[in-house]
Amino acid sequence: MNARPPMTPPTRTQVGIVGAGPAGLLLSHLLYLEGIESVVLEARTREYCETRVRAGVLEHGTARLLDAAGVGARMRREGLVHHGIVFRFGGRDHRIDLSGLTGGRTITVYAQHEIVKDLIAARRDAGGAIVFEAENVSLHHLDGSAPTIRYRAGGEARELACDFVAGCDGFHGISRSSIPPDALTVYDHHYPFAWLGILARVPPASEELIYARHDHGFALLSMRTREISRLYLQCDPGAELDRWPDHLVWDELRCRLERPDGWALRDGPILQKGITDMRSFVVDPMRHGRLFLAGDAAHIVPPTGAKGLNLAAADVRVLVQALAAFYKERRTDLLDGYSDTCLRRVWKVQRFSWWMTSMLHRGGGGAFADQIQLAELDYVTGSRAASAALAENYVGLPFD
Ligand SMILES: Cc1cc2nc3c(=O)[nH]c(=O)nc-3n(C[C@H](O)[C@H](O)[C@H](O)COP(=O)(O)OP(=O)(O)OC[C@H]3O[C@@H](n4cnc5c(N)ncnc54)[C@H](O)[C@@H]3O)c2cc1C
Repeated sequence: MNARPPMTPPTRTQVGIVGAGPAGLLLSHLLYLEGIESVVLEARTREYCETRVRAGVLEHGTARLLDAAGVGARMRREGLVHHGIVFRFGGRDHRIDLSGLTGGRTITVYAQHEIVKDLIAARRDAGGAIVFEAENVSLHHLDGSAPTIRYRAGGEARELACDFVAGCDGFHGISRSSIPPDALTVYDHHYPFAWLGILARVPPASEELIYARHDHGFALLSMRTREISRLYLQCDPGAELDRWPDHLVWDELRCRLERPDGWALRDGPILQKGITDMRSFVVDPMRHGRLFLAGDAAHIVPPTGAKGLNLAAADVRVLVQALAAFYKERRTDLLDGYSDTCLRRVWKVQRFSWWMTSMLHRGGGGAFADQIQLAELDYVTGSRAASAALAENYVGLPFD
């Protein structure tokens, strides 16, 4: 395709999309493939979006969706396909055979910012409009049939007229807060711990992800490439990074991931370090008038189940089908059902993410809670039925 990006942002489009994270960009590209126009308005720079380190585990269905959208080639070349995950507790490893328990399904390890790069390149190649550094974005006339988005770009005030607005601007965006509070039910759950995550230039010490439960707290060994490891430690909420110098992070990771047979964690230079609070959050409905929320704008999951990015992609899949039915057949039933359809999956994924989190973290519940956690881990790794339920959720629940 030879089309070039337009020089000045359009003033009218079919779907105005707020946010160039994975949800907004994937939506824009899938709409393009359906012949539906969109404009993406993003507050940050392109470089910022393309280097922001976040998730990296793709469900089977998410990887296939990227393939179907024509943006999966680099993921297939560079991503790591995994067939299992490991639970480490009581000094031993217990592998869950994800593929064997799910009829051959897999997960793919491929960093979120690489997906964002691939999607931005695909939108640019197709002449898609993405306005980076859009300031003061605000939504108007959402209750009528002609919503507008106002923003500033290049020092000028601009207005975008649309048929629909997609709020894909993450948890701290403006879309959700443009809905009157009494039109939403909010479900919000906080956990008494946080995650300290590092990205390190060292080959991963395991071929597969290791979820470790230890008396000091949870640890996760993950990876982004064959050269870059991604590791996490449970820490206190509100913990400060300067209390966690690099050597202490490695000492604690070694302690929580150790195995009595001498298995060793390799360390290396830390490229990035951050602390993320853990929360479960859902708004219902995910629609208000002509505004449709997708991804983190509508829900947050604790990262233990590796679901945030996948859930964003699942919302987008539903929204594209609904908008295509509207433009091609003038049907509104799928748009009307958008929120209920998404929320059925959202709550199942919330349950799974909460369950994984509760099973693996030390939450100060005392000796009784500790024994229940160990029994749960023993059951889930020892029973084929329980392992299969975990595997089915981990590789991603099927779509209706
Ligand atoms: C710090 C952090 C670390 C994470 N780590 C992991 C992890 O390790 N594993 C995991 O599974 N999941 C992780 N997640 C979750 C996962 O990355 C998210 O679920 C995923 O990014 C959701 O995609 P999204 O497109 O809905 O939102 P986002 O990726 O948040 O994208 C929203 C976009 O909207 C833009 N935006 C915001 N406000 C405005 C505005 N007013 N106007 C215009 N644009 C705006 C933002 O700049 C951003 O580009 C993490 C999330 C965060 C926040």
